[in-house]
Formats: sequence, structure tokens, C-alpha cells
Amino acid sequence: MENTIFLDKDADLNVLKNKKVAIIGYGIQGRPQALCMRDSGLDLVIGIGSKTRPSWAAAVEDGFQPMSIGEATAAADLTYILLADPPQPELYYQSIHDNLKPNSTLAFCHGFNVLYGAIKPPENVNVVLFVPNGPGHTVRQKYLDGSGIYGAISVEQDVTGNALDMVLALAKSVGSLRVGSVGVTFQQETEGDNFEEQVLYGGVIHLMKATFDTMVAGGYPPHFAYAKAIRSLRTVVDVMDSTGIEEYISRRSSRTCEFAVRTSGPRVVNYDEVQNIFDETERGEFAANWMQEWALGMPRLHRMRRTGANSQMEQTGKEWREKFGEG
Ligand code: NDP
Ligand code: MG
Repeated sequence: MENTIFLDKDADLNVLKNKKVAIIGYGIQGRPQALCMRDSGLDLVIGIGSKTRPSWAAAVEDGFQPMSIGEATAAADLTYILLADPPQPELYYQSIHDNLKPNSTLAFCHGFNVLYGAIKPPENVNVVLFVPNGPGHTVRQKYLDGSGIYGAISVEQDVTGNALDMVLALAKSVGSLRVGSVGVTFQQETEGDNFEEQVLYGGVIHLMKATFDTMVAGGYPPHFAYAKAIRSLRTVVDVMDSTGIEEYISRRSSRTCEFAVRTSGPRVVNYDEVQNIFDETERGEFAANWMQEWALGMPRLHRMRRTGANSQMEQTGKEWREKFGEG
């Protein structure tokens, strides 16, 4: 199944008919995915850590009758874990592991905890993964528009012989087979995600900051530097996605822009470091560093958040939004 792209025609929602699906966690991904699944006719139960959590109230507001994580798991033929990744192992061993029905299906939305061994599912359940490649609110919006978000699916353990059919039905129910979902391994999904977040998100965000800081230090008005450093990328990325990078550079941008992109762009990227980050990720070093940071209460992240929030770029962005809104 690796590298196969699955579409609506490859999946049958009937494999989940007369079956109960437990949504464990009702946050950024859980809430929108659950609403799509309900609209697709699946029979859902929602499992939440406790009545005092914000997600309990959110589920009630949406017309569900949430229950504890253990109760939801015990009732389910398919248990889909949509809890934040760091607290998953503890909550899993507290309330999920011993409540899984034999021959039921355990689904994840990210492979991290299974790949690195923090969660070891029992041998008598299917273990699968489905992840839509976008934020939850976009998943919901696209579904309502009759489209979907491209996704990835995986089967790690198949005890019933139809684990693939189960995960395909899950993907179909949130609209991700309307546009295609690709088969991957848990390792590819997890390490690919970790690599992308470090190199692409990390790289682009720090390039924006470097553009802003360098221009301001060189005497440019901060508002002008802000527009250059972040606003200008927004529309351009959409154009490149819909027409292709070459079409954008060769025909839709100016010839000066084309010359700048082709000659100076490669100087900005440190290809050796990109490779180093790839290798560290494949060796599990990124995962180990992150688990350690989490276990210590995220001291480095708290420190960096404070410095980031006080930066001139953030202040300028805030002023910009107050003055010009989205313009
Ligand atoms: P959230 O941060 O939105 O949290 C999800 C749920 O976890 C919430 O219901 C939250 O409850 C609950 N939760 C968090 N901590 C605890 C705790 N200590 N005890 C009990 N419940 C807790 O997570 P996401 O939706 O972002 O992530 C869910 C999964 O989806 C993850 O595996 C993630 O990797 C994956 N994913 C996320 C994407 C995204 O765009 N965010 C994209 C693709 C995959 P409450 O709201 O009540 O605090
Ligand atoms: Mg991620």
C-alpha cells in the first residue's frame, strides 16, 4: 500500500456501519473530524479526560454526550486517539489500553508515540493511522465545501484482515479520499512530519524574522519591513501551489524577481544543515530531545516564547493589524 493514492472509490463506509467509533480528545483535530464523521453517518462516542476540561463543554455544545476515555474506549469498535501527543502515553495506559475490545481497531492521527515506543498497543487489535494534512478548521471547511484535505494513511498491525478497509473508511468519512490520501509507514508519517516542521516551518519562520530584522537594522521603516517579511509570501505560495513553481517564477513574477530567486535564493539555504537535520530525525535524536524538553516542563520553549512575544517584529505585526486589518 505504500505510495498508493487512495480515493473515494477505494473505500466503503459500510465497514463502519453498525459499529461504534470512539473519538478520544476533542481539540484542534478531534472536534472538526468528529463533526465530519457524524455528517457522514458514523455512530460516534466522545471520550474526554474529565468533565472540567474545555473539550467536554465543546462536545456538549455540539450535541454530543461525552463520557470518560475508558468508557468510550470500552464501547468502541474503532478507537481514534485525537489527544495532544505529549500526554497521550499516560492517558493511554490509564484509560485506553485495558479497555480496548479484542479485534477492534486503534487509530492514531500521528505516529510519534507508537514509532518511539511510548505506546505499545496490545497484539489483538488493528493499529492504523490517518492524518489529514492540514489544520482541523480547514478539514471541516473543505468537507462542508464538498472537498477535503489530502491525507496519509497507514496500517501498522492487521489482526482482522480488514484494517486497511477500516482506516480507508475513516479517511473517507472526513473527506480526505475526495482529494486522495497516500499510503505510508508510521515511520514515514512521523519522521516526515518532524522533518517538515524543523526545516520548512522552522526555516521559513526564521527567514521571515531575518528579513525583518536585517531591514530594520539597515534603516527601513518597520511597517515596510513587516509587509516585505511576511505579507508578500501569503499569496505567492497559493499561486505556486496552483500553477507550479516554474510557472510562477518564469511567467507570473517579474524578470527581476526571477533573476533574484534563481541566483541568490540557493545562497540562503544551507543544504548541509538540511541533510544533518534529516539524519538526526532518522536517528531519533529530534524525538529524544523533544521528549526530554516535554518531560522537564518545556523550559526552553517557555523562555523562547517570551523573547519571541517581545520582539519588534511581533509588536509591528500587532500595530499593523490594528491599523490595516488584513490589508
Ligand atoms: P490539541 O492540543 O487540540 O488537544 C487535543 C485534545 O487533547 C483536547 O481535547 C485536549 O483537551 C486533550 N488533552 C490535552 N492534554 C490533556 C490531558 N492532560 N488530559 C486529558 N486531555 C488532554 O491536539 P491536536 O488536535 O492538535 O492533536 C491531536 C492529534 O492530531 C495529535 O496526534 C497530533 O499530532 C495530530 N495532528 C494535529 C494537527 C494539527 O493541525 N493540530 C495536524 C495533524 C495531526 P482540552 O481541549 O480539554 O484541553
Ligand atoms: Mg505535526
